[in-house]
Amino acid sequence: MIIVMKKGATEEELSVVCRTIEALGYKPHIIRGVERIVVGAVGHEDKTPLQVLEQTAGVEAVIPILKPWKLVSRELKPEKTIVDVDGVKIGGEEIIVIAGPCSVESEEQIMETAQAVKSAGAKILRGGVFKPRTSPYAFQGLEITGLKLLAKARKATGLKIVTEIMSPGEIDIICEYSDMIQIGARNCQNYSLLKRVGQTRLPILIKRGMATTVKEFLMSAEYIMSQGNYQVVLCERGIRTFEDSTRFTLDLNCIPVLNEMTHLPVIVDPSHGTGNWRYVTPMGRAAIAAGADGLMVEVHPNPREAFSDGPQSLKPETFLEFMNEVRKVAVAMGREL
Ligand code: PEP
Ligand code: MN
Repeated sequence: MIIVMKKGATEEELSVVCRTIEALGYKPHIIRGVERIVVGAVGHEDKTPLQVLEQTAGVEAVIPILKPWKLVSRELKPEKTIVDVDGVKIGGEEIIVIAGPCSVESEEQIMETAQAVKSAGAKILRGGVFKPRTSPYAFQGLEITGLKLLAKARKATGLKIVTEIMSPGEIDIICEYSDMIQIGARNCQNYSLLKRVGQTRLPILIKRGMATTVKEFLMSAEYIMSQGNYQVVLCERGIRTFEDSTRFTLDLNCIPVLNEMTHLPVIVDPSHGTGNWRYVTPMGRAAIAAGADGLMVEVHPNPREAFSDGPQSLKPETFLEFMNEVRKVAVAMGREL
């Protein structure tokens, strides 16, 4: 249910509404819009009806949310959400580029990459330290050593950092070092992990599973938000289809679809989406033209030697060209980069 507060409703009236929602067995989520405050009341739908709230002071209307996704929906919050990654805002006018290696490998590698992507205009540095590898014999990541290297690169460049979590046991250490937590495609529907990151107050970047529908993807984001963490960014990274000339099929359709269904920012990862560095720039341009709020791209100083995802990684020089190309489309779309 959406409880729409009257314009000018007081904090006291709001708190009475929230207490009543809790007493009826639902969880209140306060959303402060530019115009007015609304309260999302979510819980098992067979509980007592919330219509009684219509009689409560400060309440203008009580409206049911018909879809199973509630907190993520445009019905609840018509205006776009801007996710704040320690000062870097995703979902506003500016297109935000997240760039860096697939895996953090060494101090030299992460420092060189961080300097290069920073000077080309990226705002957030990516780098995996807990890696979800298909083979248990492949490089699994530098773990805490890698987190410390990311923090060092942040200090040297001022970039914010994002890194992937694989299991709830990593949460404390990641929260200590990172500015944003990535949920990878393979964990998109790992509901206990989603609930756990929902209990933190760090922004979450959730990647769409390779066989996850848009509706399932929204339900995954709903899991995070249901725990009170509203700072969620959605990332399309390619889905599995019959097509085998690229690693995955980048589903650009989902950008306008998601933009219609949810207020959350949507970014695109053309590196995993194509699996080939030569297609990263064209698909990055296309994603911005389709309405994405940002891009996530893999960059490595020496892709041939990369421990993971070398074939889809841009070199620093190519990343600079990528930024120049994508900027043209951003400007044409009336956005900044
Ligand atoms: C990654 O970002 O390096 C990664 C493993 O991505 P995905 O979860 O999309 O495969
Ligand atoms: Mn990768």
